[in-house]
Order: sequence, then C-alpha cells, then structure tokens
Amino acid sequence: MDGSVMGAEALSAALLAMEEQFVTDPAASLAAAARLERQAMALGDEALVMRARLRRVCMSFRTGETAGVAREFYDILHWAARHDERLLEARAHGACADIHQYAGDGARQLEHALSAVQLLDETAPTDLQITLRIRLCDALAATGAMDSARQRYRQTEDQARKEQRWNLLAVVLNNWAYYEYELGNLAQAREVTDRMAAAADAHSIELDPVKLHTIAEIQAASGDYAAAEQSMLTCIARHEAGHVENAADLAFYQLTLARARRGLGDLVQAQQNLDACRELCAERGLQELLAQIHEEQAELHAARGEHTAAFAELKAFTTAKENLASREREAQAQARHAVFETTEARQQADQYREQARRDPLTGLPNRRYADEKLPALITGDPHLTLAIADIDHFKRINDTLSHDTGDQVLIQVAKILETELTAAIPNGFTARLGGEEFLLALPGTPLDVAASILDHIRHTISTHDWHHTTAGLPVTVSIGAAATSETAPPTQAATLASADRNLYAAKHQGRNRVATGTPREHLPRAYRDRDIT
Ligand code: GH3
Ligand code: MG
Ligand code: MG
Repeated sequence: MDGSVMGAEALSAALLAMEEQFVTDPAASLAAAARLERQAMALGDEALVMRARLRRVCMSFRTGETAGVAREFYDILHWAARHDERLLEARAHGACADIHQYAGDGARQLEHALSAVQLLDETAPTDLQITLRIRLCDALAATGAMDSARQRYRQTEDQARKEQRWNLLAVVLNNWAYYEYELGNLAQAREVTDRMAAAADAHSIELDPVKLHTIAEIQAASGDYAAAEQSMLTCIARHEAGHVENAADLAFYQLTLARARRGLGDLVQAQQNLDACRELCAERGLQELLAQIHEEQAELHAARGEHTAAFAELKAFTTAKENLASREREAQAQARHAVFETTEARQQADQYREQARRDPLTGLPNRRYADEKLPALITGDPHLTLAIADIDHFKRINDTLSHDTGDQVLIQVAKILETELTAAIPNGFTARLGGEEFLLALPGTPLDVAASILDHIRHTISTHDWHHTTAGLPVTVSIGAAATSETAPPTQAATLASADRNLYAAKHQGRNRVATGTPREHLPRAYRDRDIT
C-alpha cells in the first residue's frame, strides 16, 4: 500500500476506519498511522496529515513514548481549533487529557476531557462519543469527583450496551473498577469487575491482559489470592501470545503475580516473580515500579522473618517514592511547558496573520483584509454602502514636494478617513486599497445617508491644516460611493465597479466632491468596460 498513491477521499476513508478501530495492538496501529501520515503528506492535504499524525502520536504514547508527545498533541489541538475541525479538535483534547493524566495533573486532565465531550454532537461517531465520555469519567474520578464519575460511568456503560460496543463496554468497566479500587472501595470495584467478566462471557469478548490485571489486583486486594493467581496466569499467557499494549506492562504483571503468590504462602515463586519484575524494569529503564518493588520485597522479607532486610527495603521504598513524586512533577512541568510554547507560537502566528492584513505605511487594513471581510458584510447587510476615496492630483504632491511628503499626506489622509468614519459609523471600516486609493465600508447606511457622511469626511480633509506638511499645496479627495443593494443579488465586484464609476465622475466634474448614482451611459466607453476587481 505504501508505494501507491491514494486519493484524498480514499485516504480519509482509510483514516476513519483506523480511527474507529478498537486498538488491540498499538505498535501495529502506530506503523499503520505513520504510513497514512506519509501518504497524506505526499498528497499535500494538511487536514489529513493532522488526523493521521494525531493517531500516530497517540499510538506512540500508548506504546510508552512520552518525549515530545505533549508538544505534538497541543500543536494538533491548536491547528484543529484554528481550522474549525471539530472532530479532530475533540480527539486532540482527549489526547491532551491523557498526557495530563500521565503527568498526574488532574485539573488539566479534566479541563481537556470536558472540552472534548463538549465539542461532540449526536452526529459524531458512536465510538468516539463513548471513548471521550470514558475519558471524562476517568478525569472526574482522578480529581476525586467519584460521585459524578460513577453517574457518568453508568450512563456510558448503558450507551455501550445499547450500541453493542462490547470492547468499549469492557474499557468503561475496567476504568471504573480501577478507580473504585484506587479509592479503596473494594466492594464496588468487585461489583464492577464482575459485570465486566459477565459481559465478556455473554458476548464472547476475550478480555485483554490490562483488564485481567485489573481484575487480579482487585481479587488480591480483597484476599482472594487463588483467583488473583489464576487471573494473572491468564493475563501473562495472553500477553505472551501477543496481546501487548505496552511491552513494559509485563513487569506490572509479574509484580501482581508475586503479591498473589505471597498471599497464598508460596514465597519461593513469589520471589521469582518479583525478581523477574525487577529484571524487566532494569532492562527497560522503567522507574515508576521501583517503589512498589521495594515495598513488595519488604513484605516478602517480613513473611520470611528477615526483619533487618525488610527494614532496609522499607527505607529504599520511601526514597523511591520520593523520586517518583519528583519525576511526576518533572513530567507535569514538561507538559505545562508544551502548553506554554504552543500558545506562544499560536500568538505569533496570529500576529503574522494580522500583519499580512495591514498596510505598513498607514497602519490601515489592506485590500486583503477588505476582500476577506466584504463577502459576509455584503450578504448580511441590506443597507451596506461602499465608497472609494482617491486623493486628487496626488502625483503633483509627489513631484513638486517629495515622495516622503507624499507618504506623510497618505498617512494623515488615512488617519482622518478612519477617525471620521468610525466617529460616524462605529462598525464601519477603512482600508487602503493601494496607492492613494482607500475603501470606506459603511454598514447599515443607505446611500443618501452615506453621501452626507462621506461629504463631511471630504470636507474635513480639504479644510485640514496642511500647511506644515505640504507648505500650502491643497490636499483634497474625490469619493465615489455605491450601495450594495443596487444589484440583485448584491456582489462585491458590481458594487465596487459602480463606486469606481462614481469616483471617475467626481474627478471628471472637478474633483474634491462625492458622487453617487452615475448612470453607466454617462461615462466614456473606455471607462465603461474597465474591470476593477
Ligand atoms: P487624480 O486626481 O486623477 O487622482 O490624480 P493623481 O495624481 O492623484 O493620480 P495618479 O493615479 O496619476 O497618481 C497616483 C500617484 O500616487 C502615482 C504614484 O507614484 C503615487 N503613489 C502610489 N503609492 C504611493 C506611495 O505609497 N507613496 C507615495 N508618496 N506615492 C505613491
Ligand atoms: Mg488613483
Ligand atoms: Mg489620485
């Protein structure tokens, strides 16, 4: 598939299929997403690139990669928000919730999870709705709002059952049970895992190792060590058969199995499992389990009556726990830094956007701004008048004085136009179209009212004290105005052409005046056929 070139539609469909797929093998999904991302790049379709990229980074995060992930999530989030890609934005918020959960920052996790759910409507894909609702439940649970979390877990459970999304149902119940367990609500945790096991039985879903692990931990915590051992043996067998979420998970599994076996009094095997866990951690540079390993080792020493060794392990446990807390703070700082950096980058981009829409000499909006702004104004306002103001004999100012003086005149005329227009029509705007030509937009202003406002502006310019700038050379403007209602349907091109005709008439009639409503036939033929936009 890699070599062939996919069209945008086929690629979008392939992406959708991938987004809807329940992931059982993140490493394989990662490779597939990377392939689609390359194809989207070859197509030059930015929206598809972003979708594929989010998928790729999510998968890479699930397989244990954390460096730079927050930054990528935020970049995609901001891109989606800027381009009004709501589904992508929702997914990206979900991803940001995950990264803050990883960093142990519940407040931000909740903020993103909530934004994600709020972006969805009933047309959003069912799987996405359920997935993002689960994230919101998790975030509520993680921030201690267990009552609200429970209520929503229940609703999401019902939705998953109704829509027959059995894999997602298992995820809802797994996460719910896990948080009940974390909070020490063992009875509730067991109730939920029992529902998960029953659903798996009823719908022939093979629970993956992560879910079996949750079940085993809850069984072990409630003293049901034999059941815990059985669950863990199945869990590890499935992991070894290729149901691998994250290769490092095996270390967690060995630890839980060690606990279950210690509970059963099988200290020899328990020690073997703990040693295997320790080895895996060393191999993979896994630090987050260190504290728990010391804790379990202390328990095992104690169970064998080795109290001095148990005490030493307890001390090591305390230190490891402190290190873990400081690593969590570090991860939080990194995630926060990514938020900060991308917000700053976005502000910079906004600044460039803004700059591209301004005329550097006068500081007025430019033609590009006008072209972007006018279509909506024209469709939304039946009483819009547009006018073009052009400085009279401007060439003379440049030629007899200097180009610099010409610039000064442009700056001052621009300022008067804008000040006077905004004073009369606060939601109007002025733009420099180029050279010594300016556009004035007067929303909600019928042509006759506009004509008197424009004439007042013209008068203000001609009576301005130009002495310091032009040494007495007069500065005046001619203005041609037209209402968008002149043509049906109103168009920018027709209105501006009409305003330009009127401007020409004003020049022809002697300059320093406002002209409206000049019939086309009154103009010279050469002018009639001019096309200004
Ligand atoms: P009219 O009354 O018929 O409008 O005569 P005019 O001399 O104003 O018109 P014309 O279009 O012949 O001249 C416009 C001049 O504006 C020509 C150009 O060199 C000058 N110009 C265009 N942009 C700038 C600018 O940014 N600064 C300065 N100083 N001059 C400019
Ligand atoms: Mg001109
Ligand atoms: Mg001119």
